Amino acid sequence: MKRPGHCHICGSECREIVSKHTKGKLKGEPIQFGDWHENAWRRTFELSDGSTCDITFCRDCVDDADYGKIWDIVKERALWEEDHRELRGAPARTAPEKHRAEQEIERIFDLKIEREVGRRMWKFVDHKFGHLV
Ligand SMILES: [Zn+2]
Repeated sequence: MKRPGHCHICGSECREIVSKHTKGKLKGEPIQFGDWHENAWRRTFELSDGSTCDITFCRDCVDDADYGKIWDIVKERALWEEDHRELRGAPARTAPEKHRAEQEIERIFDLKIEREVGRRMWKFVDHKFGHLV
């Protein structure tokens, strides 16, 4: 399973993990992050609806060009996060919120990666909001 702060492809650690879950269904899931490692790359992809998506890769995997596989991993993670959101401490959703979440999952499943539009080492990225994938 793809995890935040880890390579999208091989799962190697791309960011210092300050703390993580040690048991239960969330075992291994990061809780708090530190600095990015030297091996961490951010690739930005343009999606079929014109939006962009940042994805983390280690140095060994940064040239992976199998966009179908890369997006399948995004989809898998989106489903996992939705299935585990309450375990991860998120409040239960209201019916309209649930509907919106389902629409978001459908949107992700309808999209595909069109092309890469940028690539940068994470340590050079000014990131105030952490990252999603
Ligand atoms: Zn990798």
